[in-house]
Amino acid sequence: MSDIVKNIQKLKADIAAELKQAGREDEDITLVAVTKTHPVEAVDIALANGISHFAENKVQEAMRKLPMVSKPYSGFHFIGHLQTNKINQLLSLKPYLIHSIDSLHLAEQLHRALGRTNRTQDILIQVNVTEEASKSGVTFENASELIWKIASYSTLYVRGLMTIGKLHPDPEVSRPYFRQLKQLFDQIKQDFPGNFDYLSMGMSHDWQIALQEGSNMLRIGSAIFGYRDYGDDR
Ligand SMILES: *Cc1c(COP(=O)(O)O)cnc(C)c1O
Repeated sequence: MSDIVKNIQKLKADIAAELKQAGREDEDITLVAVTKTHPVEAVDIALANGISHFAENKVQEAMRKLPMVSKPYSGFHFIGHLQTNKINQLLSLKPYLIHSIDSLHLAEQLHRALGRTNRTQDILIQVNVTEEASKSGVTFENASELIWKIASYSTLYVRGLMTIGKLHPDPEVSRPYFRQLKQLFDQIKQDFPGNFDYLSMGMSHDWQIALQEGSNMLRIGSAIFGYRDYGDDR
């Protein structure tokens, strides 16, 4: 766990260098530390050492861990597949941003739950740009239509887009997909009535490519916390 602090420092320096290289050094990039499978102690270390946003991908795990986090943070992000029967639990954790809304049905259920509590929620639309069957996300061609429909729900603020690149050893293979999503992002942003400002793409192995292609929100797990041990349930 002593590596976490070093890893964060190195990652931040690397991100700054990459942004400079791209002429984007004045831009705000949100670094979201992905804490799934790691103990609360690891979350606390990250939060005490320059991380203020963190993410989980399972509601159950977040329900267990969040009450034990002892350091202040700006945002808890939810980045996993969301089952409708877990919506109320997730909302009880007051997520800063839900990255993984990918269907009208899910948006509608979320809207209803929010309506009952008189709250609003910032969300991203997850797009499956690489069209891999194993991944969640709306298809690229259906994304615009879905975004505009969801934008009509009064409790939901669509703040941008999220995608997962190809899980391939060579991150370059994801570049055309990231570029495609950035184009869609720019196109929707032009006409969007609210703040459409987050482009969440880039993980430990491909964040450089994602930044080069215009990402402004990185979701980084193993490059900060090391290898994930899923135990027996995977
Ligand atoms: C696990 C996960 C990440 C982080 O992955 P790393 O390769 O460990 O950086 C990012 N996004 C999503 C949606 C994830 O599930």
